[in-house]
Amino acid sequence: MDFDQLRAEMVADLRERGIDDTAVLQAMRTVPREAFVQDEHLEYAYYNGALPLPANQTISQPYVVALMLSALKLQPQFNVLEIGTGSGYAAAVLGHIVRQVHTVERQEALVDYAQTRLQQLGYTNICVHLGDGTLGWPEAAPYDAIVVAAGGPTVPISLRNQLGENGRLVMPVGSYKKQKLQLAWRKPEGGYGQKTLTPVRFVPLIGSEGWDDADQ
Ligand code: SAH
Repeated sequence: MDFDQLRAEMVADLRERGIDDTAVLQAMRTVPREAFVQDEHLEYAYYNGALPLPANQTISQPYVVALMLSALKLQPQFNVLEIGTGSGYAAAVLGHIVRQVHTVERQEALVDYAQTRLQQLGYTNICVHLGDGTLGWPEAAPYDAIVVAAGGPTVPISLRNQLGENGRLVMPVGSYKKQKLQLAWRKPEGGYGQKTLTPVRFVPLIGSEGWDDADQ
């Protein structure tokens, strides 16, 4: 398969769907998504949908990754936190755009999965951490932007508290199976602004400020 051609087509499709952040488009034109999907799904690497991962999880749909990262208005000097590393694909896209990426995953099997791939591809600005991401990663806070790749009932307070000045956060918020993307930002005068974006379906955010493991 000509993955380079498929990747170019994916980016052209993202443009057609209205994604216009050139840093995001360029990063997605560069990151080999085929390196992050499981071998048995290789032929669907550039299909615009979510794909299965170990531990019953999924790699997010390219369009949703592009939409979430565009909403963060990323700048090269940013320190960014991702919750829900999964395959490591979105972390890799972030790694091309910003200075430093911290990504937290609760499933050890996926921490290994992502770390192996990110190392093989030579990323040096992405740290993968094992833990409950609903508590954020205070050691490297504050963050200029936070992206949560799993759906929760509310935006965890811990995450909001780890946003720096003018920091932006994007996260699916709603019920266990259906959510809407929420954008939140820290206002210079104090407090937070909030805006609801599009309906999405993400796997659940499970942790002390998310769903209980038993909620399913
Ligand atoms: N960004 C990923 C897709 C993530 S899927 C990619 O590009 O492939 C959502 C991930 O969130 C799953 O791997 C799931 O295990 C993880 N997750 C769920 N709750 C979590 C929590 N509290 N902390 C960290 N990771 C969590």
